[in-house]
Amino acid sequence: MKRLIALLGTLTALLVLTSPLGATTIPTQRMFTPEEALTQLKAGNDRFATGHAIHPNQDRQRRLFTTTKGQHPFATVIACSDSRVPVEILFDQGVGDLFVIKVAGNVLDVDEIASVEYGVDHLETPLMLVLGHTHCGAVTAVVQDAPLHGSIPQLVDNIVPAVTKTKHDHPELTGNELVTAAVINNVWQGITDLLMHSPATRARVQAGTLQVQGAVYDIDTGKVEWLGPHPGQEAIMAAAGPADMDHDAEATGHDEAATHGEQEEHQALTHETAMVDEEQASGDMEEAYTQEVEAQATPQPAEKGGASGLWFIFFLLVIILAAVYMKSKTKS
Ligand SMILES: [Zn+2]
Repeated sequence: MKRLIALLGTLTALLVLTSPLGATTIPTQRMFTPEEALTQLKAGNDRFATGHAIHPNQDRQRRLFTTTKGQHPFATVIACSDSRVPVEILFDQGVGDLFVIKVAGNVLDVDEIASVEYGVDHLETPLMLVLGHTHCGAVTAVVQDAPLHGSIPQLVDNIVPAVTKTKHDHPELTGNELVTAAVINNVWQGITDLLMHSPATRARVQAGTLQVQGAVYDIDTGKVEWLGPHPGQEAIMAAAGPADMDHDAEATGHDEAATHGEQEEHQALTHETAMVDEEQASGDMEEAYTQEVEAQATPQPAEKGGASGLWFIFFLLVIILAAVYMKSKTKS
């Protein structure tokens, strides 16, 4: 009798464990620390530069996951628009891994800083990388003082201080050596502009939840030269003032500061609306995803027949057990 009960218990457990719905798992994505994010980028670039790229996170499953669960990139990267600097490819990353801003000369002006803030503050990437590159046309144009047309002068005015400093500090440099040195100084300039004008970025750096680093990509070797954080980061942060005091200080200033304050308020409101929309969209998508996962988990007709067959055997065993029990009762 006891053996029969044990057998039925085992059968029930097996049926539950082998049920297709019990096997359904939804992948999760955990947040990296700044150090882990940097290690991930370094490993990816090593794979790319040595011809061992694995092209991760580029399949249907990844698109489905990032569509329904939202994006959780582990690094924000600003790089030059140059077609020879394909960020996801050179770091061997995939869909939803990197929040990338591309702009000629990888400058950090108002729109770029706002985009970086979306990455580091809203999406909370633990790493922010300013990536310059060798043979940069935008930096070269400033170094050579080339004639510029259209809106380009307003773009490269962010690069001018870096080139002026390079020429002043290294009058011996010429040609490509001068451009390469200016590219590095332009990376430092970008980090300075970001830290000076972004209280949100400073607050996260101060809290230790974000690292802002510089790097230069060699378009010939495919290798990234890692520069680390800005050597004068502490001094820049001190000069910019406390992160949480920044807004008040600007609001008490001249007209331009007041306009800036209004802009920030508008941005905050827009930001909030965007977040609500995103949550709503995310909810709809999640429902669609759950349906799709359930559809995938739904057994094929043949399997379904097999599963109900097992349940039939289970009920048959229960009836046999009951009959045996009744018989033993009547005997005694
Ligand atoms: Zn460039």
